[in-house]
Amino acid sequence: MPVQESNPVPVRVSEHVWQVPFPTPTLPPLDHTNTYVIATGDDCLLVDLGTTEERHLSWLTQFLRNLGVQRLQIIATHHHVDHTAGLPRLAAQWQVPIHLHPLDHPPARQALGVPPELLQPTPAQLQLAELSVIIRHQPGHTHGHLHVEVPADGVILVGDHLSGAGTVWIGPPDGHMDDYLTALTAIAQSGCSVAGPGHGPTLDARAAALQTKERRLRREAEILSLVSQRPLGIRELRQRIYGDSLPAGVERVARRTLLAHVQRLLDAGKVRAVWQEGRFLYSTEP
Ligand SMILES: [Zn+2]
Repeated sequence: MPVQESNPVPVRVSEHVWQVPFPTPTLPPLDHTNTYVIATGDDCLLVDLGTTEERHLSWLTQFLRNLGVQRLQIIATHHHVDHTAGLPRLAAQWQVPIHLHPLDHPPARQALGVPPELLQPTPAQLQLAELSVIIRHQPGHTHGHLHVEVPADGVILVGDHLSGAGTVWIGPPDGHMDDYLTALTAIAQSGCSVAGPGHGPTLDARAAALQTKERRLRREAEILSLVSQRPLGIRELRQRIYGDSLPAGVERVARRTLLAHVQRLLDAGKVRAVWQEGRFLYSTEP
């Protein structure tokens, strides 16, 4: 996917929140990751930064300067590099730590190659002058995934729990389908009207969360129906469900998301796993 050469175009989401889509190497067909800037007065909280390109970082510095930002705090919704790769540079520039849920610290340390002290746990609430920002641990896409809420603006930043472009993937062992469905319910019940996803434009928070949850539950019912006909492995499930329709590059995440569904069915006792010829087959047979 070619990276766009033009400067990012920030979108004002609400009174205090801007969305900045930066080109990043991420999962096709996506070609960008959203950074969010929450600012009031000279205080700012920046959420996610996937780009490491010098010109993007210069652009961001100028953008923050234009907003009058003097104090910056940094949070990552989760450890994936398309959300975090640019944060160490920004943290060094502003001499501040990166806040990330502790469960996501080990993979972030490994991926970013940063000293442990640069990563700090997240507080439950941050105060930017008069503006309260609520940070909730909401696992699903990763064990330490976060939602960042700006209640005064009715905005919830949901990382990779919703997508404004393409679909969300859930990959065990880090991703967990039951936690993910709980996270979608939390978005729907957050009272926020606008959801800021990690990729793509903003969404109607409640409608998008409920639609996404319904889609996941439909997929789960489809898997249950298929394995009730005869025992199937992930490979067969992938073929039966997607056929040849998968875009290039998403094969692995599609399989992992199917596995996340199967694990939820195993946990619920609705299917069982049988080891056969070097791999697991899943079945509803007792
Ligand atoms: Zn992710």
